[in-house]
Amino acid sequence: MNIPELLQLQRNFFNTEKTRDILYLKNSLKSLKKEIINREEDIYKALERDFKKSKFETYLSEIGIVLSELDLAIKNIHKWSKPKRVFPSILNFPSSDYIYSEPYGTVLIIGPWNYPFQLTLAPMIAAITAGNTAIIKPSELTPHTSNLVEDIITKVFQKEHVAIVQGGIPETTELLAQKWDYIFFTGSVPVGKIVAKAAAVHMTPVTLELGGKNPCIIDGTMNLKLTAKRLVWGKFVNAGQTCIAPDYLLVKSEFKNSLIKNLKTEIEKAYTINPETSPDYPRIINKKNLDRLTKMLDNDKIIHGGAYNNNDNFLAPTIMDEPTLDSEVMKDEIFGPILPILTYNTEEDIKNTINNYEKPLAFYVFSNNKKFVKKLMSQYSFGGGVINDTMIHFGNHRLPFGGVGDSGIGAYHGRLGFDTFTHQKAVVKKGNWLDIPMRYAPYKGKLKQLKSMFNWFD
Ligand code: NAD
Repeated sequence: MNIPELLQLQRNFFNTEKTRDILYLKNSLKSLKKEIINREEDIYKALERDFKKSKFETYLSEIGIVLSELDLAIKNIHKWSKPKRVFPSILNFPSSDYIYSEPYGTVLIIGPWNYPFQLTLAPMIAAITAGNTAIIKPSELTPHTSNLVEDIITKVFQKEHVAIVQGGIPETTELLAQKWDYIFFTGSVPVGKIVAKAAAVHMTPVTLELGGKNPCIIDGTMNLKLTAKRLVWGKFVNAGQTCIAPDYLLVKSEFKNSLIKNLKTEIEKAYTINPETSPDYPRIINKKNLDRLTKMLDNDKIIHGGAYNNNDNFLAPTIMDEPTLDSEVMKDEIFGPILPILTYNTEEDIKNTINNYEKPLAFYVFSNNKKFVKKLMSQYSFGGGVINDTMIHFGNHRLPFGGVGDSGIGAYHGRLGFDTFTHQKAVVKKGNWLDIPMRYAPYKGKLKQLKSMFNWFD
């Protein structure tokens, strides 16, 4: 079946209103949960084959997140789908006012390779909980996981409800040429712009979950050992191939040497002195990305790691000391296990570095100085951030997850995911037991009364 036919099939299915049947949706979500649990070992194997991801990281960042989004959706679908009554306006008295959450219709979800299970299935769960149909285009760079996602989806859903289209640029280009009711894209900024342009042709709303150069400021007032431990986790989980990983550090000059010492110790503790043999350290996704990363390495600046192996796309956790802002590693998002350490002395230095880049997806600060933290939180624009740790804001479904400016448009997770995939439709039910004559012409002598009514307006 070609892409336009598949899309038409989904449109026809959406028009039957089957996707508005809460019981049907709830059962589908439950079947998906059961299938994921049944295939747990296969999921571990697929991620291991794609880039040597450990079972622990696969559960933490892929399976666990998808299952908790599923549990939340199963528990709340009924409540979320109901029209929400809101306080009416005095101007409309008497009336009852509602917000209806209306599914958009047929949705396209395009996923990246770095968390290939979670970043395709979590948006899909939100999309179908909201009553849409969905076509998912997983990444072509993780064939084992993408095929497994297809297996799972095909087993649980009829293709008129949820379907997978595999492929790379040509297939995605063909998908983007169609008219969708919503597009949800996770990936790089340049491709995000391609998606936004394609969507604009059809006035299709989009969520764009993109990336950026995420700063991490360390002023030395927090314990440096704990700082280093949390940084090493955040930077080297998934071998640094995480959109919200700290990209570079900005440490107060006088604490740099001590921080570096702690970082080296923590890297060795986590991955031993030979990370290539560590069962917990993943590989770079492919040779092209390994080449992209090794071009960033500058031997004069490397103070830890730097080793790589072209045969299995290994790149050691690496620290670079004070690369200049015009060096390769400081140009674009690193998206790999290289940690540049820059220093600052004044708040002006921080500003000069951060403002060199577009608004980041994530922002981190390690500090016990409340005033300093408060200032940073309001001074800089970023998608989401953490004080005294990294990445953990992702783990709370009550927090919106998304970017701002170049790092993205829109947000999701939990209830917000449901909202993302629904149009919030305003409905006012006017009462007939009273009909205040004031608004009707002729208006002579009514202006004063009108003004006083606006004073009641809240
Ligand atoms: P990518 O943009 O290269 O690819 C993403 C998807 O777009 C893939 O499915 C791919 O097949 C498709 N694609 C690639 N080139 C295309 C083109 N020219 N036309 C149409 N489709 C195209 O991104 P990636 O390399 O898979 O992922 C890495 C990027 O994703 C990083 O920048 C990272 O920060 C970002 N990311 C963001 C989030 C987030 O939630 N904000 C999460 C993960 C990754």
